[in-house]
This record gives sequence, structure tokens and C-alpha cells, in this order.
Amino acid sequence: MVGSSVALEAAMPSNGSLVNGKVSDRMTAAAELAFDPTAAVPEPVPSVAESDGVDLEITREIVLGKNVHTTCFEVTEPDADDESTGDKDAYMASVLARYRKTLVERTKHHLGYPYNLDFDYGALGQLQHFSINNLGDPFIESNYGVHSRQFEVGVLDWFARLWEIEKDDYWGYITNCGTEGNLHGILVGREVFPDGILYGSKESHYSVFKAARMYRMECVKVGTLVTGEIDCADFKEKLLQNKNKPAIINVNIGTTVKGAVDDLDLVIQTLEECGFSHDRFYIHCDGALFGLMMPFVKKAPKVSFKKPIGSVSVSGHKFVGCPMPCGVQITRLKHINYLSSNVEYLASRDATIMGSRNGHAPIFLWYTLNRKGYKGFQKEVQKCLRNAHYLKDRLRDAGISAMLNELSSTVVFERPRDEVFVRRWQLACERNMAHIVVMPNVTIEKLDYFLNELIQGRSIWYKDEKVRLPCLAIDIGTCNCCCALHK
Ligand SMILES: *Cc1c(COP(=O)(O)O)cnc(C)c1O
Repeated sequence: MVGSSVALEAAMPSNGSLVNGKVSDRMTAAAELAFDPTAAVPEPVPSVAESDGVDLEITREIVLGKNVHTTCFEVTEPDADDESTGDKDAYMASVLARYRKTLVERTKHHLGYPYNLDFDYGALGQLQHFSINNLGDPFIESNYGVHSRQFEVGVLDWFARLWEIEKDDYWGYITNCGTEGNLHGILVGREVFPDGILYGSKESHYSVFKAARMYRMECVKVGTLVTGEIDCADFKEKLLQNKNKPAIINVNIGTTVKGAVDDLDLVIQTLEECGFSHDRFYIHCDGALFGLMMPFVKKAPKVSFKKPIGSVSVSGHKFVGCPMPCGVQITRLKHINYLSSNVEYLASRDATIMGSRNGHAPIFLWYTLNRKGYKGFQKEVQKCLRNAHYLKDRLRDAGISAMLNELSSTVVFERPRDEVFVRRWQLACERNMAHIVVMPNVTIEKLDYFLNELIQGRSIWYKDEKVRLPCLAIDIGTCNCCCALHK
């Protein structure tokens, strides 16, 4: 009976008694008779993936126009006698307990997404009993009292200091994610320049092009260098073709796939050279990925409101390590007047994208910033960069194509040939590339564990000499490619 022990364990608080830390035999027997989760519900509980061995159950398929429901937990109506038997409670507890096991296992094998999974927010557990909602503008009190604006504004002030803008000159809020920051920054740009053209490199995050579609903006994609950075020669050409219209530019502080950092100073210089005065362009910096890492990297170009930029956004659940999606968006207060209209219902200004906002997120951010501080982040960034170099070097030593940009902790390498392996390690892939974003929770031990499995896997995938190594020359440059032609 798969999973029954887990089910029992979870069901105990309401159903059983503990004798010397053990379930008494009588209760075990009774509970087993009364409740067998696998018999009661055949499908909804997915198997817990084991920590070793490759046994991921689902083959993932994307079928456009068709939703896949195979792994969902069905919602069932309570039976009339549920309250007296406790069956439903026990069933739900078993689902949750097994889900938790899956989370533990999946967290252990996570490398591909830039999420810092290393945190301890035990102290904040007491707050989950409250419906904390920061609807509306953080700087204007609404009539809803269960909010966390005092934390939100504290966090915003911290970021304003980091990005060098005075308290009285900025406006911002804690968003639901990095995407919302981009949607907001680009919207502010569009409100400032209603007939502006949106420029962004083709390696920008898809939320930038989503914004263009949502706002029906004219959008020009700019080419990139092999590193993934915006190609300012191409940018120049495209600006000169559209000199009659203001420019709204998305600048990447870390691209999603290669972790490339666009050269902000060169972007500004290019605009100036093409005759765009500071009142004819708006720059939004998408710092979702590295926005909070860059300030701590020596030699890195500085993101600062002392430069002619309009807004900066960052994700809170990536490097910062907030356990729920969130982000920070900061812009200039003078721009916000274009966006605001009075909403009487809230007795507040309406300059955000969403209505209700997660009021827990600012408290988590406040907690982390207080605990780690500037010095703490600096240490973590250094550790990430060191570990990323270690990973890149080990890959290259093993004859595996790999690239690591100078200011980045994203290691791009040869896409593993086995989809099960890719899913086991939750790698993000594009064309012949996979990447690992080295976050503070990615230790050398974890990387070694991964590398050993990868090297072992490759010895099987490429055993047959007719199976060729993929070529990554166009993705990461010939000097980083280890295929038969370029090694
Ligand atoms: C992750 C990411 C985003 C989007 O952030 P979400 O928090 O996932 O919405 C935007 N831009 C870049 C460069 C990213 O890496």
C-alpha cells in the first residue's frame, strides 16, 4: 500500500494517539482499515520522485489549445459523514504530506532557475493567520487597515539608496514579480512618451514583448553580441531610422538565458550620439535577475538614478530568496503623475498595475534585508561568482562546451541529451543550450553531485561514435564550443 505510512503520520494529529512517539498498534490497525488513500483515490497523488535514480513519472507535452489535467489533485465534495469520520481531513493531510515530500526532493535537485532556495523565515510563520493586503499606493494610506505599508516603504527606501535616488524624488512599490516591474516601467515610459518606440535586445525577457503587445506599442528588436549583450551598433542603426520618435528602451541587467548585462553607459552614449536629448528617451532597467547582484560586483556598470534612467525593477524571489513571487519597482516620482488618477473607493492614488497586492512579501523582504544587509549580499554574490567559475571550469575540463559571462553567475553549457536528466535537474534549455544559475543555495557539493551525473550520463549518450556532440558555436562562440569541429 504505497504511501499509507505517510498518510497515517499526517493523519495522526486528528485521528490517532502517540504512545512514546510511536503509533499504538490498535490505532494503526484501525486507521488502516478506515483509510486507504490509494484505494480511495486512484490518481491524484503523484509518486514522490526518489532522490537517486531517474524516475520522473510524467512525459511533459505541450499541446497548444489543449490543457493537460493528468496530474491534478481533484477537488471533491465533502461526504455527509466526513465531519464525524475525519476521512476527508485524513485524506487531505496525506495529500499535503506527500506533496511536501515532493517539494523537499525537487528543491534538492534544482539548478536551472535563478531562485535562491536557501532561507529561514520561521519567525514569520505567525503572520500567516492574517490577510495582509497593500492595495493601492504604498505612500498613501487606504482605509483597509490590515496592511504592511510600514515594511513596504522601508524596503523601498533601502532600494532607493542602493540605486541612488533621494527619498523625495522616487516612487515605487512591491510588485507581484519581475514581470510586473517590466510592465510598470514600460507603461511609465509609454505614458511619458505616448508615441515612443520600444527598443529591447532580442534576448530580453519575454515580458518586455508582452508589454509591447498589451500596450500596442511599436517595438523594435535589437540584435545581440554572442555574449547576449545588446549590440549597440545595431541599436544605433535602428535609432537613426526612427529619429522622429522618442525612444523607450529596456536595458537588461542580466538576461534570462545567458546572464548578459547590457552596457547601460554605452546605451546612453549611443542615444546621445544619435541626437536623442535626455527629454527624448526613457530607459527602464530590467534587473529581475542581477539587479541585486550587480551592485556588489567590482567593475560592474552601475545602475543609478544619477544617470538618465527612468525606472529599475528586480525580482524578490530570485537572488534575494523570498519564498513567494514578488519584486521591487522604483521610478521617478515626477513620472508617476502621468500615470495616476484618483480612485475614490480606495481614497488613494492609483499608480500600480494590480489592485490587491501581497502584503506578506514586503515583510519577507524587510526581514531578509535586515538580516543580511549590504555586507551579507556582497558575500553571497562573491560565493555565487566563485562557484559559477568552478562549475564552468569543471565542465570545460570534461570537454563540455560552456560559457560564463564576466559579470554573471549563469553558466551556459551543452544541452544534456536526455530529457529525463534535464527534468531531474530542472534545467532551463534553449536550442542546444542549457544553463545553471548559481544562486547562494548552490554549493560546490551540489555542483559535484550534478557534474558526476552529467559526466556519467554523457558516457552513455555518446557511447555510439555516430552520435555527435551538439555544436554551440553560434550560441556561445567558437572559443567556448567543444564540438568535434571546434575543440
Ligand atoms: C525572471 C526574469 C524576469 C521576470 O521575472 P518574474 O519575477 O519571473 O516575473 C524578467 N526579466 C529577466 C531578465 C528575468 O530573468
